[in-house]
Amino acid sequence: MVKRVYDFSEGSKDMRDLLGGKGANLAEMTGMGLNIPPGFTITTTACLEFLDAGGKFPEGLWEEVLEHVKRLEESTGKRFDDPENPLLVSVRSGAPVSMPGMMDTVLNLGLNDKVAQGLIKLTNNERFVWDAYRRFITMFADVVKGLDRRKFEEVFEEVKKEEGVKGDTEVSVEGLKETVERMKKLYKEEMGEDFPQDPYPQLRDAIAAVFNSWNTPRAKTYRKFEGIDDHMGTACNVQMMVFGNMGWDSGSGVMFTRSPSDGSKGLFGELLFNAQGEDVVAGIRTPIKLEELKDQYPKLYAELEEIAHKVEEHYKDMQDMEFTIERGKLWILQTRTGKRTARASIKIAVDMVEEGLIDKETALLRIQPSHIDQILHPQFDPQAKKEAVLLAKGLNASPGAAVGMAIFDADKAEERGKAGDSVILVRPETTPEDVNGMVVSRGFLTQHGGGTSHAAVVARGWGKPCVAGCEDIKIDLARRLFTVGEYTVREGDWISIDGSTGEVFLGKIPLVEAVYEKETELIKALEWADEVRSLGVLANADNPEDASRARRFGAQGIGLCRTEHMFFDQEGEEVSRRANIVNMILRSEVAAPLLRQLEALEKALKANPDDEELKKEYEELKKEVDSHPDVKQYRESLENLLPLQRKDFLGIFKAMDGYPVIIRLIDPPMHEFLPPREELLVEVTELRAKGASGRELEEKEQLLRVVESLWETNPMLGLRGCRAGLMYPGLTEMQVQAIMEAAVEAWKQGVEVHPEIMIPLTSHINELEEEKRKLQQVAERVLEEKGAKDLKYKIGTMIEVPRAALTADEIARAAEFFSFGTNDLTQMTYGISRDDAEGKFLLNFVDRKLLPVNPFQVLDRDGVGKLMRMCVEAGRKTNPELEIGICGEHGGDPSSIEFCHEIGLDYVSCSPFRVPIARLAAAHAQIKNPR
Ligand code: PEP
Ligand code: MG
Repeated sequence: MVKRVYDFSEGSKDMRDLLGGKGANLAEMTGMGLNIPPGFTITTTACLEFLDAGGKFPEGLWEEVLEHVKRLEESTGKRFDDPENPLLVSVRSGAPVSMPGMMDTVLNLGLNDKVAQGLIKLTNNERFVWDAYRRFITMFADVVKGLDRRKFEEVFEEVKKEEGVKGDTEVSVEGLKETVERMKKLYKEEMGEDFPQDPYPQLRDAIAAVFNSWNTPRAKTYRKFEGIDDHMGTACNVQMMVFGNMGWDSGSGVMFTRSPSDGSKGLFGELLFNAQGEDVVAGIRTPIKLEELKDQYPKLYAELEEIAHKVEEHYKDMQDMEFTIERGKLWILQTRTGKRTARASIKIAVDMVEEGLIDKETALLRIQPSHIDQILHPQFDPQAKKEAVLLAKGLNASPGAAVGMAIFDADKAEERGKAGDSVILVRPETTPEDVNGMVVSRGFLTQHGGGTSHAAVVARGWGKPCVAGCEDIKIDLARRLFTVGEYTVREGDWISIDGSTGEVFLGKIPLVEAVYEKETELIKALEWADEVRSLGVLANADNPEDASRARRFGAQGIGLCRTEHMFFDQEGEEVSRRANIVNMILRSEVAAPLLRQLEALEKALKANPDDEELKKEYEELKKEVDSHPDVKQYRESLENLLPLQRKDFLGIFKAMDGYPVIIRLIDPPMHEFLPPREELLVEVTELRAKGASGRELEEKEQLLRVVESLWETNPMLGLRGCRAGLMYPGLTEMQVQAIMEAAVEAWKQGVEVHPEIMIPLTSHINELEEEKRKLQQVAERVLEEKGAKDLKYKIGTMIEVPRAALTADEIARAAEFFSFGTNDLTQMTYGISRDDAEGKFLLNFVDRKLLPVNPFQVLDRDGVGKLMRMCVEAGRKTNPELEIGICGEHGGDPSSIEFCHEIGLDYVSCSPFRVPIARLAAAHAQIKNPR
């Protein structure tokens, strides 16, 4: 028969799938010789069998449980239903992955009237016994029987009111006893039967409830958000109870072996004397901080420190532990890998390498790309923060800054968040019930609860800012507002919270970028990543500022310098770039065909230099073309643009001293530089209606005519990329001249330059060859003229059109490098418009799982990726020296980076902000799949 129940002494941490995280850890800790209350674990397999059978115990399971209860009785000397020495147990869920607070727990199971009397005698602590009993009834009614917990809590509240007290511990023994009586009565009313006195049915029902809790709506929501598999099931742990509420020499606590918010060393956590674990998490009374124990209870602190050290040595990671002190004896209830903020993840990983606990690769794998994203997230603008109204200060429970409208319940937060509003969920405290609203909120603000309260734990796990235990604010849920001093914040009012400092501000504070340079641990980890990775990381940057930022973030060059932005006006320049490109386009109507004609003749003449007739024809046309006013203006516009472009490139080369700069020739359809057709139509019509005539009208009419002639049904498939260079004579030449002159100038100033010129949107080798011919001509001329023949440059192309990928063997003959433009390649492979689809149907398809992911964010390995793989192989076959990279948005996406590593690319190029992430992701790829 398959074994479904394991004693703690029978398992280990490697049995997580079967015993759940908690069960595996309890077993592991038992094995380590820590002081763990004994017990046993019922497997996740048993849970799945139970759920599959529609909530029935599989055959033999109960008998196996009974056997383990017997063993437990033997090992503890305690027995169920024995007033002389009663066994009480906790029954807890524990899934293979941590789902804090999502599933159910029953404590004090085994209590009944008889045992209560026995315990009173044994402990001489009547208060403790009635308190435990009233807790047990409440939990059993709620968790096991699905009754309304609030009704039971109200019973206790009533008694408190009658006694005129507020705190739980202030209620008299009689009051507690009375509470138990009233609760039992309420239970009978609700259930139509007495509260069960036999511990065995209590246990059986509690196990069933734990298994069923795997499928509660809140557990499902949590799993969906965290991407946790629904088919894992939860294990169920049955363990001897120890009591933190047996008096003031008892207590319950939580302990992180390092700070989960910033990773700093030292114990971090809280202890509540004379209380059970749930009281600490629920934030009912304010616990004392573990640091304070150092002075007040040095022996206890030292004991905790020793345990922390032992578990870290054993698990090689920061641990989050729960412990109970029962009449001075310290029991460990559980330990698990501590959830932590992004910042703490990085610091702990780096520190542990330096402490010799783990190696660099392990540390790198513990840092996730999302952690970098989080710590490089915006923070408040310091000046604006100084000027803002500080409303209150609570606990800095989860770092980062958030701005949003205060919303006072989870459902409303969900509604507003989904509608696209920025929401900060404000609650007295949060519970797992609030998860739907928390998912969409920018941050959380709670009035009660500490650093280990639900809101704080969830926020850190999700990387959201949280200010907890902000007692200064007085929340009035009925009126949907909170007051603090003279201020009232109503629902929908804007607030800003700083989870790093615990501050709460009125209104919106602008957010600013994080300061990378201050992130010393991250910088160190990324240096290790650089030692490990084999993929290069370059940046997409098209101005000197972005180029410098990219360098600061560790980019090894520019993988894509888009030049189209350089045709828009820049501040402080006298010459209008825009006016010149517009003029060029306008004049191209007449000038471009003439110039192309001239170019053709020139080519023919080169092929037949002795053909006198051809020579004559060429010279006549040349004269005509050179003196044509449209051609003159067309050329003048290009000439005006030349020095401006040169200046741009010079700045970029300087910022990238020593590193390659891949500059892409102009790419977009030309109409993008012109005013919209509709706007021009209105203007022309208005001018005509006013009876205007003359220059203004003529110019507008010409502009309109050109705009209409450039109009395309599918501009993305139209006259763009190298096609523009091929249709607008002189455009490629001007850009290349600017690039090469800038390169020479920088080189003469002592800068190490590596210019690489990239031709966009090639689909046929002939296009590439024609552009390359012109390009080389200009480049060689500039180098010759400037006496810089030693300056090396490269010519390559983007692979953005499926045809180019499919004919990579040919294309590679004319290219020294390829760069995958996966934005276009995805658009054209999928046949999905990159500019329209996301808003129209694509995200809906992703939601419906018609598509696994948004292919514009995460590279489609099976389709686009297949083309890339073929392209790499074919291209390298023809040209083994071919350098291949990627510069589409996917170049900054960790999963896509991993794929690029696998298919043997040389580098990825992404936006400067993503460079640190790419460095890490490239290292991860190498560690997981060395090449
Ligand atoms: C691409 O297509 O992936 C690319 C980088 O070019 P752009 O986004 O400028 O079209
Ligand atoms: Mg493109």
